[in-house]
Amino acid sequence: MSPAPGRCPACRADLDGGPVPADLRHLFEPPWRWSRALGIAEGGSTVAWECPDCGHRWDRRATLRGIRRVRRDETTH
Ligand SMILES: [Zn+2]
Repeated sequence: MSPAPGRCPACRADLDGGPVPADLRHLFEPPWRWSRALGIAEGGSTVAWECPDCGHRWDRRATLRGIRRVRRDETTH
């Protein structure tokens, strides 16, 4: 499983979904937390995330590089 974001880069919602049970941790990577972010799959791998609160989507690779500041003119209307 790919590392999931802890916070939405658009609305800053906390996407932490709580701790992963010990018997499932082999499927995940530390720190073993669920994420409420919705994974957008393409070709068998997660390519993007979607925020369940505001619907914002962002590239998963952007998450891996570190969440950059979202410009105000990129917000959806
Ligand atoms: Zn959001």
